[in-house]
Amino acid sequence: GSIRPDAESEAELAFEGALRPKSLAEFVGQRKVRGQLQLLLQAASMQNRTPDHILLAGPPGLGKTTLAMIVAHESGRPLRMTSGPAIQHAGDLAAVLSALVPGEILFVDEIHRMARSAEEMLYLAMEDFRIDIMVGKGAGATSIPLDLAPFTLVGATTRAGLLPNPLRDRFGFTAHLEFYETAELEQVLDRAAALLDLEVDSSALSMIAGRSRGTPRIANRLLRRVRDYALVHRTSAGLEAVDAALELYDVDGLGLDRLDRAVMQCILTRFDGGPVGLNTLAVSVGEEAETIESVVEPFLVRTGLLTRTPRGRVATPSGWEHFGLARREASVP
Ligand code: ATP
Repeated sequence: GSIRPDAESEAELAFEGALRPKSLAEFVGQRKVRGQLQLLLQAASMQNRTPDHILLAGPPGLGKTTLAMIVAHESGRPLRMTSGPAIQHAGDLAAVLSALVPGEILFVDEIHRMARSAEEMLYLAMEDFRIDIMVGKGAGATSIPLDLAPFTLVGATTRAGLLPNPLRDRFGFTAHLEFYETAELEQVLDRAAALLDLEVDSSALSMIAGRSRGTPRIANRLLRRVRDYALVHRTSAGLEAVDAALELYDVDGLGLDRLDRAVMQCILTRFDGGPVGLNTLAVSVGEEAETIESVVEPFLVRTGLLTRTPRGRVATPSGWEHFGLARREASVP
């Protein structure tokens, strides 16, 4: 039979699901955020009310969906999941909100992608658990108020700055998720290897951890690729298998992926190391500015290869070095 194109992603999803920590105690890293959430949930439970609305901000794969599930699990409340792109009209949101049961947790992934009209409806819903539904058009249009069950909104976004202020202000708490330290990713991988019953050398686990872009999702995926490699080549999942799998999947020594490298190479070779503006950069590498800004750059900045200046993005000396390029002498004016 033919290979279904979505077979891989289905397997990936099942794999991610199996590895998802179910409680705050099982959740590795993000100490600060864990403490903040713990307090917020405990206070709500002591007062027997719905927890405040929570905004989770950070690059993809750091555990936003996982945390939303944990919030529901720890507070013993049902969870309903949707996403910004699925809410194209205010009516889509009204349908979701009016179907909520009392105390439900509503998770909206990529909340910055929601339609404008829905955003406005959400302000009122978050504040007063009420919406106004518009009926009819023109002079005959009326709005019908509708009371909602109290709920907790958990929104996820790659960057809190992408949200309009009135929406951002209505969250009781914003958690900023940080990239994970290598030691934390080792813990994530240790746990994953145990859950999946994989025999992997601890040296191999640290190597995967160091090249996972500070991201648990990537760490878990690389682990799977290494497992595949060891299986197919009938070797043990050791350093050699890690090296070969990383090479095959285009992950470099710092864990940079293809797009990370495309962005750096563009800045270095086409713009002489910068400064270069975000939009120019986006057009040059053929990627959306938002993706560059909230997915690619945070890691390049954290790794010390790139800095953001008011005049644009600039490659650092380490950036030049990592790509084996010599910086051209600045011409004296
Ligand atoms: P996206 O923004 O793309 O939805 P996300 O930030 O919501 O990404 P998750 O889907 O929550 O990321 O996490 C991806 C995977 O990484 C999960 O399957 C989970 O197994 C693992 N993971 C994330 N955070 C942790 C953690 N702190 N400890 C252990 N595993 C984690």
